[in-house]
Amino acid sequence: MSKKFCYLFTEGNASMRELLGGKGANLAEMTNIGLPVPQGFTITTEACTQYYEDGQKINDEIMAEIMEYIEKMEKITGKKFGDHENPLLVSVRSGARASMPGMMDTILNLGLNEDVVGVIAAKSGNPRWAWDCYRRFIQMYSDVVMEVGKKYFEQLIDEMKEKKGVTQDVELSAEDLKELAMQFKAEYKAKIGADFPSDPKEQLIGAIKAVFRSWDNPRANVYRRDNDIPYSWGTAVNVQSMAFGNMGDDCGTGVAFTRNPATGEKKLMGEFLTNAQGEDVVAGVRTPMPIDQMAEKFPEAYAQFVDVCKTLEDHYRDMQDMEFTVEHGKLYMLQTRNGKRTAKAALKIACDLVDEGMISEQQAVAMIDPRNLDTLLHPQFDAEALKKAQPAGKALPASPGAACGKIVFTAEDAKAWAARGEKVVLVRLETSPEDIEGMKAAQGILTVRGGMTSHAAVVARGMGTCCVSGCSAIAMDEENKKFTLSGKTYHEGDWLSLDGSTGNIYDGAMPTVDATIGGEFGRIMGWADKYRRLKVRTNADTPHDAAKARELGAQGIGLCRTEHMFFEGDRIEAIREMICSDTVEEREAALAKLLPMQQGDFEGIYEAMEGCPVTIRFLDPPLHEFVPTEEADIEKLAKAQGKTVEQIKNIIAALHEFNPMMGHRGCRLAVTFPEIAAMQTRAVIRAAINVQKKHPDWTMVPEIMIPLVGEVKELKYVKDIVVTTADQELAAAGMDMKYLVGTMIEIPRAALTADQIATEAQFFSFGTNDLTQMTFGFSRDDAGKFLGAYYDKKIYENDPFAKLDQVGVGKLVKMAAEMGRATRPDIHLGICGEHGGDPSSVEFCHKVGLDYVSCSPFRVPIARLAAAQAAIKEQRQ
Ligand code: ADP
Ligand code: MG
Ligand code: MG
Repeated sequence: MSKKFCYLFTEGNASMRELLGGKGANLAEMTNIGLPVPQGFTITTEACTQYYEDGQKINDEIMAEIMEYIEKMEKITGKKFGDHENPLLVSVRSGARASMPGMMDTILNLGLNEDVVGVIAAKSGNPRWAWDCYRRFIQMYSDVVMEVGKKYFEQLIDEMKEKKGVTQDVELSAEDLKELAMQFKAEYKAKIGADFPSDPKEQLIGAIKAVFRSWDNPRANVYRRDNDIPYSWGTAVNVQSMAFGNMGDDCGTGVAFTRNPATGEKKLMGEFLTNAQGEDVVAGVRTPMPIDQMAEKFPEAYAQFVDVCKTLEDHYRDMQDMEFTVEHGKLYMLQTRNGKRTAKAALKIACDLVDEGMISEQQAVAMIDPRNLDTLLHPQFDAEALKKAQPAGKALPASPGAACGKIVFTAEDAKAWAARGEKVVLVRLETSPEDIEGMKAAQGILTVRGGMTSHAAVVARGMGTCCVSGCSAIAMDEENKKFTLSGKTYHEGDWLSLDGSTGNIYDGAMPTVDATIGGEFGRIMGWADKYRRLKVRTNADTPHDAAKARELGAQGIGLCRTEHMFFEGDRIEAIREMICSDTVEEREAALAKLLPMQQGDFEGIYEAMEGCPVTIRFLDPPLHEFVPTEEADIEKLAKAQGKTVEQIKNIIAALHEFNPMMGHRGCRLAVTFPEIAAMQTRAVIRAAINVQKKHPDWTMVPEIMIPLVGEVKELKYVKDIVVTTADQELAAAGMDMKYLVGTMIEIPRAALTADQIATEAQFFSFGTNDLTQMTFGFSRDDAGKFLGAYYDKKIYENDPFAKLDQVGVGKLVKMAAEMGRATRPDIHLGICGEHGGDPSSVEFCHKVGLDYVSCSPFRVPIARLAAAQAAIKEQRQ
């Protein structure tokens, strides 16, 4: 049987999201449960992928099916495309599997042409409405299908308003709108060189193709990369008959959430705009009314809407984000989906739903996007400073968090300033999808126009970026890059602080403090811990970071890098002496100076970890990273060493390497200078002995990790030094203490020979940064130069340093884990690369059966949740 590419709303349901996209599946589901939905059909995501496979063409088979479904739709609605009695007007809406708000484009009122406008104007007795629909259609179609600049149309509207002496588009008359429609058509012809299409079927096919094309537009590609949505999914297209919110004052359009998406409060929240259509609410053309006011002005539709909200929440068992239209007092539902929410709201809603008996603990854990938690772990404004501060202004608390940065006025500036390390706050009249990258680069976003559901608000919440919207008190002068608020003029580069939780705006830079886990966050984390199998450790090099990670739930340290400690204070001098030694004796003398310092460092870290396991990695970077470059430092070193400046310079020159990342580093240092490994072993064991004596109730088991091993013999060589030294230390102290010696698996050869390596290594820790670097053969620091081209050409969809490449690097990990276990069944396995905090990579680690993941302290809660989700998902399957 051939594939079916079109489904009536009555043929689909919510479980068909992969095929029908989220919007289409939910339109079908709402239809099934008897809600008032304007009817239509969905063209599947497979039709989209087919379109690309066929070289951006709709093939004959799909075309025929679309035509068949238009006829079906005409029968169902009793209307006909282009008809002079009862013309069918439709919307054409994109809808991927995962919602991508504002990423793709919608066309309304399709099916209109000059004849049909006349028909509906006469039949309805409402020519203003008819012409409003037509001018909107031309505007949207030109923008979306033909990419004729949106700006120019808006300019024409502004000119018309000025000419008529009105400020709002609702004040324009039927005649004005008709004139505008004609101007728009002329503009279209001027830009495209052809007449605006009048045949509804031709319009429809153009629109469908445009939706397919929009799947591949630059902002959709960026959004997908950020949100882990594969290109291969494609988007569905929904063709739906129109409901009209712009037929007069008993009509309108709205957007609402069943619970507050910023705080999670169980209270309907939304906005409604009378005599309006489509994105008017979101685009901020006029300020909409809060949903409660709708109760007074549209009591019947409102009562019906409240009912629908309850039905939908009970049905989906989650907070819903809905779009609806009221046509002459009658309610039509146009969309529902599980609403995007802030991390704070997500936690509250999940806990509330559990308490309301709507969902289980596992479901609560599964419904939270781990990436979102990041925002809660970011600093908040210092409470004391906040109390004392006088806000310079107040607007809507659109997306919570604390932001503090220098003012910029364009998305490009935000990007450029952030790229050179500046913290910026982006201030705009309103934002649009083109601004997305600038919004991402900014600490916070402040808009003059737009409500809680404006583009800026929705996108900022999705990104977890602080946003304050709708600050109409601002007198904006975008052109000259300045604005005035409460009598003060702010220029580009001035500091500004935003509180996205209250909507307060503060002049200057407000101090911030670290966040903590408590309340609902703590409850959810408790549930996550109950259901996960993977342990979560942290990468920490200092007692401060270690303590922070403990607080955030780390169960140990998976990677403690020893070299970072060497840069501090007077240590760097001792290290330099060690490097610039000619003899073993000289080197040992320098190392002897370092020993007590390292021992102190390790004691501090052990104390902070309260007896939890700590993996300490031995010296890893190339030595030249430590040598002095300043003349004065070189002289100082020469004096300390009793050498000439010349001699020191020669030693430094000898350390030069052509490719240091693949040079004299890692365990190679210990092979050439075994004294280093011996000193580090002494420091680790002595620290563990001291801490063990101080805390008899802890069981100290030091873990020593040898980096950059590629051959079992080099591991054995270094391990022998470690074991000999450690045993000496323990014997001298009269202590019996277990310790482990293991290795990083970060060179492909180590993964390929993991069976041999495991004869010596008691644990493996996958160093996926180096492993990725060496498997791909390009460095993390240089990948930025060409990854853009790889994204454009669809060669890579993600940065392999951010998201583990499961196909290649992952295969090495899986293989090494299996071989390691075969050789040594009790081998302990973990991952300590950057990937340890990336949810999809955590899921991978769960699947291949690692014992733990290790990530930076602030990602620990994310990893805990992702680990629980992986376990819950596995259980369900
Ligand atoms: P997005 O995915 O960007 O939200 P939508 O496809 O939901 O885009 O369309 C945007 C808006 O257009 C909707 O919220 C709704 O107000 C309006 N709209 C879409 N289809 C219809 C329709 N059939 N009748 C009336 N309004 C519609
Ligand atoms: Mg849209
Ligand atoms: Mg929508």
